[in-house]
Amino acid sequence: MAAGWQDVLRDAVAVRDAAAVAVDAALLAGVLMRTGEQPHASDVVNYAPFTLLPSAVPRALFEQAYAVQQDFNLLVDAVSQNKEFLEQTLASTVKVDDFTARLFRIYMQVLEEGLAQTVFLGINRSDYMFDCGLDGAAALRQIEINTIAASFAGLTSRTADVHRLVLQVLGKTEEASHLLPNNPAKGLALGIAKAWELYGSQRAVVMFLVEEVQRNIFDQRCIENELWNRNIGVVRKRFRDVFEQGSLDASRRLYVDGQEVAVVYYREGYVPQVYDQQNWEARLLLERSRAVKCPDIATQLAGTKKVQQELSRPGTLEKLLPGRPGAIARIRATFAGLYSLDQGEEGDKIAATAIADPDRFVLKPQREGGGNNLYGEELREVLEKIKDSPERTSYILMDKIKPQPALNYLLRAHSPLQMSKCISELGIFGVYVRQGQELVLNQAAGHLLRTKAIEHADGGVAAGVAVLDTPYLV
Ligand code: ADP
Ligand code: MG
Repeated sequence: MAAGWQDVLRDAVAVRDAAAVAVDAALLAGVLMRTGEQPHASDVVNYAPFTLLPSAVPRALFEQAYAVQQDFNLLVDAVSQNKEFLEQTLASTVKVDDFTARLFRIYMQVLEEGLAQTVFLGINRSDYMFDCGLDGAAALRQIEINTIAASFAGLTSRTADVHRLVLQVLGKTEEASHLLPNNPAKGLALGIAKAWELYGSQRAVVMFLVEEVQRNIFDQRCIENELWNRNIGVVRKRFRDVFEQGSLDASRRLYVDGQEVAVVYYREGYVPQVYDQQNWEARLLLERSRAVKCPDIATQLAGTKKVQQELSRPGTLEKLLPGRPGAIARIRATFAGLYSLDQGEEGDKIAATAIADPDRFVLKPQREGGGNNLYGEELREVLEKIKDSPERTSYILMDKIKPQPALNYLLRAHSPLQMSKCISELGIFGVYVRQGQELVLNQAAGHLLRTKAIEHADGGVAAGVAVLDTPYLV
């Protein structure tokens, strides 16, 4: 699946010149990040890392990924409303994983109280790799679906323009014209705006719940500015602001610093380190409120690796999506092998298989954000150690996807220009809005291609491993 850049890749002068053009184009287009040295201010910024050249993506698999996105939206929404399924699926996990357990406790608590929220907004990103089969044909395989704080919709909306220019500069005018337009920032903003409108208060704002350290602020601003352009007010608050300034009125309307909040859009809250006692209290306050949470805590739980693994069990999709055989077939066609490590014969067997042949698998804990999975020798060691303890059930096993590498240059500030063997991961953004039981919006909102050198088993763009890319369909 070569994209035909071979002539360019080995022309050192052309590459150097194109890289200089590319970096300036990225800065001009707003493909930006704050720096590691000055993460709290925008006085000094740099370009977000990206590939020099777009990467080849098989057109059929790209179209398959788009075609299944509305189905995945339906599925996540269905899981989030199915208490029995979430309870059963996470029962073993919450016994050993404290973070999932705390989220689950809040989930149960708000259900017992009765939900004040009536409008639901889901923004997710389903990530895939292209598995290279023995016959050389590539297959679309889902890596995971991110149901909270799925990022880079903003920056990726600006990346295709940079790659288009690079191809033009390299004399690839025809190829440049084939790059697809892509604006997930707009698509996500549309969903947030719809939820805001259905909440039904002109005065109320959208609250971006943001991190203490906001290096990726420009990515968020892209969405924020789309909302301002629709005359929807946006505030940026951290958990601790909510703890200090947040309250609910008698009908559980949420107020933060005197302003009513219609929509809470989480760009934070998916790693345990963030939560001290105060931040857990803030989270509970938000979840109890009438405000539209994106995602609500049930939808965050629907995105756990354990749920993903249970979805692949025969018969589960049929129960969750009754009467939708087409959606079920499309969803299932993207699943890789996923295996439960729950205590019992099934878990014993797969644990032994993985210890014997660790390169076939990835060992995943219930964590998000990259850098948590285990591979190869490390996988073997850890699994060997925990194979007879209940701790085993805080992980799942997954077949390791093996894509065909391609050559590219990864452009990163302060790094030398060198060619790398790379693999890519395609993400499709999904957005949906539900009012009561009625789904009023369900869309695929755009895509994200991230590419990394093959030396790295794990990690995304924020983790400093992958870089932004643009698909070139072949
Ligand atoms: P996280 O929630 O930390 O993003 P992921 O499941 O997306 O967890 O895994 C992180 C990264 O690890 C992915 O971006 C991908 O590069 C790699 N990875 C995850 N699962 C697999 C797999 N089954 N095969 C190959 N690589 C994988
Ligand atoms: Mg991921």
